[in-house]
Amino acid sequence: MLQLWTSARYTFPLPLGHRFPIAKYERLREQIVISGIGSAGSLHEPEPATRAALLRVHTPDYVDRFVDGRLGESELRRLGFPWSTALVERSLRSVGGTCEAATAALENGVAMNLAGGTHHAFADHGEGFCVFNDVAVAIRLLQNTGRVCRVAIIDLDVHQGNGTNAIFAGDESVFTFSMHGGRNYPFQKVPGSLDVELADGTRDDDYLSQLADHLPAVLSRAEPDLVVYLAGADPHESDTLGRLSVSFDGLARRDALVLELCREVGLPVAITIAGGYGRNLEDTIQIHLETARIASRYASPIGVPRP
Ligand SMILES: [Zn+2]
Repeated sequence: MLQLWTSARYTFPLPLGHRFPIAKYERLREQIVISGIGSAGSLHEPEPATRAALLRVHTPDYVDRFVDGRLGESELRRLGFPWSTALVERSLRSVGGTCEAATAALENGVAMNLAGGTHHAFADHGEGFCVFNDVAVAIRLLQNTGRVCRVAIIDLDVHQGNGTNAIFAGDESVFTFSMHGGRNYPFQKVPGSLDVELADGTRDDDYLSQLADHLPAVLSRAEPDLVVYLAGADPHESDTLGRLSVSFDGLARRDALVLELCREVGLPVAITIAGGYGRNLEDTIQIHLETARIASRYASPIGVPRP
């Protein structure tokens, strides 16, 4: 069964009308159980990431000031959240979930954090609703404990992972691949190993053919031991922040393409859900749920035939 991590219980207060869809995590957790994709035995609550784990990526100054509630006004504005102790707890648990899912992926072929993918977080600051860079922390954890050497990040959130790219700039051991809206946030892109910029309104055929063209080269250039996949729901046509026109079916085919190719070449995949800001919250949940459903087909150790 697919092993899943959820931070849904660790919610935090937001002002009325705030754009961040905090409700999606709890709804997604519910739907995972109702659909039978997850159960009490396979749906885990993560431990909070430790300070030592965060310091493998983030500066002590940023970590300590965030945890202690000493970020300035402008730093909080850039982050997009009001500070609270609940936000601290949630942020640490969300990073923990990606660390645990990445570790489990090595055993089980695929594992998934129903949160995370906070790729706009830099070493020394957060922005765009991203406090800590969970993917970077998880990769450093696995590298520093000798479980992986090389990692490929496949970032298909519609926004570029500027923080991730900055963190791994010049590091040959981590290949950062991103397909994102060229005219979308962040307006100042940070170059990764391979960036594919998509035009506003890009539809299924174009989106999927570009992905299919690039993915094999990404995996052969990266020579990874592990793939971390950011399965953002925000390329969807109904997304309020996405600017693309990819359908439900197109996103499902995207997920299948990534997971099938990784399995063909024997690579474990850790999945994070990343962004999703559907006009209708249920659309976003449906997309993340479908990612989990497709992932569950690949939840078997590499090299063992699938059921
Ligand atoms: Zn996004």
